[in-house]
Amino acid sequence: MQVGRTTGLAIAGLVTIGAIGAVAWARSRDDAAPDTDPTPTPDPRPSLPPTSGSPSPSPTVPAPTPAPEPTVPMPPAPVPTPTVPAPEPPTPAPAPEPTAPAPAAEPTTPAPTTPAPAPTPPSPAPVEAFDYTVRAGDTLSAIARRFDTTVARIVELNDIADPNRIRVGQQLRIPGSATDVPTPNPPAPTIPAPNPSTGQSRVPAGPAISRVPGAAGKVALTFDDGPSAYTDAIVATLERRGVDATFYVIGSQVAREGARLARMRDAGHAIGNHSWDHPQLTNLGDAQVRRQLDDTSGAIERAIGIRPDTFRPPYGARNDRVDGIARELGMRDVIWDVDTVDWSRPGADAIANTAVRNARDGSVILMHDGGGNRQQTVDALDRIITGLQDRGFELVTVPQLVAAG
Ligand code: ZN
Repeated sequence: MQVGRTTGLAIAGLVTIGAIGAVAWARSRDDAAPDTDPTPTPDPRPSLPPTSGSPSPSPTVPAPTPAPEPTVPMPPAPVPTPTVPAPEPPTPAPAPEPTAPAPAAEPTTPAPTTPAPAPTPPSPAPVEAFDYTVRAGDTLSAIARRFDTTVARIVELNDIADPNRIRVGQQLRIPGSATDVPTPNPPAPTIPAPNPSTGQSRVPAGPAISRVPGAAGKVALTFDDGPSAYTDAIVATLERRGVDATFYVIGSQVAREGARLARMRDAGHAIGNHSWDHPQLTNLGDAQVRRQLDDTSGAIERAIGIRPDTFRPPYGARNDRVDGIARELGMRDVIWDVDTVDWSRPGADAIANTAVRNARDGSVILMHDGGGNRQQTVDALDRIITGLQDRGFELVTVPQLVAAG
């Protein structure tokens, strides 16, 4: 009796602690991207063990990753003040959130104004069915509107299983008003094909990557948790400096940031998968993990026409199971070896120093363009680029780093 009651109380206590932890985590997503290895975090999340270096609590994992290298010669993260005179303005002030949404929608549709290519002969003559090649930014409903037909007719004619999944480059038969007689393609609107040339070369399958030591003289800047209101500023700095980077994006955010993502792709940046909503995947079942990854890859593909070939697990938390599911979905795990701890907002100087001092041949440098206020990251970026270039490093995307290794 007594024992049973005590156990019950203990369980109730644990449940309560768990709930508090969950709330604390949810809040921490707003101001501190929790991506970083759990070491420097005072984060009360119950799931993350305080052990250094190993983000995965799963007892089955032999030795998770060399990921979060404890090389950072920095003061412990939670006390960001010492180095910073007082650069941190009152938090809400600099948040550029409101500026972002406006320009979002237009550039993906590069040729919406082109006269509808529907081959309309003289006038009352029936329009015949014709072929159309799916372009970046296309959706079935947009195509249906453009050619004055319906999604249902296109779906039926092409035997499409999932109307939400069409690929750039996919050939569609567009129903005409009369017959299905083959007609020459309409004056194909020039397709801004995904440019695999730049940062987008494919990464071959293989073990997880935290650094590519063979990539002499090269390092990769990576940004997690976007796209967000800070992404544009980061992309603008990269563009001004002529540098390509890799962005590990959150699927649920991609869903409303497709246009922005397409611009990033066009600028030569590589886009990777960072899960749908940033859970610790080692705590989820196989089906949930698969869904987190697959839905995100689908959203990325819809936005930029390319399925991502690299994946970064939130918090760096991975094990063989998570790696295996990523591999089945065509992605290779990419962790990091230099953690700027930028999410803890230690000051732009500290972020820049950490990145520049700790970089080595083939380093993968972790930063964040989303998940909270990232103004310090924005402010540090120019110095990081200068510092790394002064050390003789060329800044490349993760695919380029792997190819050089
Ligand atoms: Zn993250």
